Amino acid sequence: MNIAANIADELETPTADDAVAHALFADAPNSVSFNKLRKRLLRNVRQAFDDFAMLKGQKRWLIGLSGGKDSYGLLALLLDLQWRGLLPVELVACNLDQGQPNFPKHILPDYLTKIGVKHRIEYRDTYSIVKEKVPEGATYCSLCSRLRRGNLYRIAKEEGCDALVLGHHREDILETFFMNFFHGGRLASMPAKLLNDEGNLMVLRPLAYCAEDDMAKFAAAMQFPIIPCDLCGSQDGLQRNAMKEMLADFERRMPGRKDTMLRALAHVNPSHLLDPKLFDFAGLMAGETAPKSE
Ligand code: SF4
Repeated sequence: MNIAANIADELETPTADDAVAHALFADAPNSVSFNKLRKRLLRNVRQAFDDFAMLKGQKRWLIGLSGGKDSYGLLALLLDLQWRGLLPVELVACNLDQGQPNFPKHILPDYLTKIGVKHRIEYRDTYSIVKEKVPEGATYCSLCSRLRRGNLYRIAKEEGCDALVLGHHREDILETFFMNFFHGGRLASMPAKLLNDEGNLMVLRPLAYCAEDDMAKFAAAMQFPIIPCDLCGSQDGLQRNAMKEMLADFERRMPGRKDTMLRALAHVNPSHLLDPKLFDFAGLMAGETAPKSE
């Protein structure tokens, strides 16, 4: 079965008529290029739904909304699919106000109220904890993200959600992979689907196949009221920026490399790597049928 073709067909059905979409898209450009972009992103999301069985057993999702372009885009794409009848899951948007100085508290509640989305805004001053614990000169992001994640897990359970849904995209996944590869000495990235340690909450990343550049164009066209991510005064550190630049340079010189690298993460051959925990190298014996690696 050609899933990509089926997904494309469903997005072309009369109910998917762009003109009848929700008020969220009322001010969106009515251009061929925007409609193509929107449908490409919807296809990417639905492909991730299919490949990782993201909808299996799911009834209610908590959508992490930071106020950055990717989380706004995630919410809009999920709402779009919901309106088209292609996402039978209840959505609750959630922003964790972490107490960063000058955080504009009104922007997200105003926006969510305007587009009529169920939401919860939670205030937890993790900023003070991070400032106290992280030594001078070091970056805050690692501890800050862990504290945010812990709170979002808690809120998702309190809200009776089956999953916490996050707006990480293709570039986030590739950058994390190379950070672990170059600096961490392990092959690992951000999974598209993960069960929390307690085994009672899924973490989903439906934008796993979406290109960051597409998300940026989508956010600009949709005029999302973006909240800058540097209010805390921290940066994500030099390592991630270096990975971002390296990947962008590959893509400039050899277009299509990012998609190829993402594909590679979905075609792993343990017998051609060096991890005896993943493949039984000791069990390889000449004259016997070799154990299957995949
Ligand atoms: S940029 Fe600031 S708010 Fe974002 S993760 Fe880093 S420390 Fe936290």
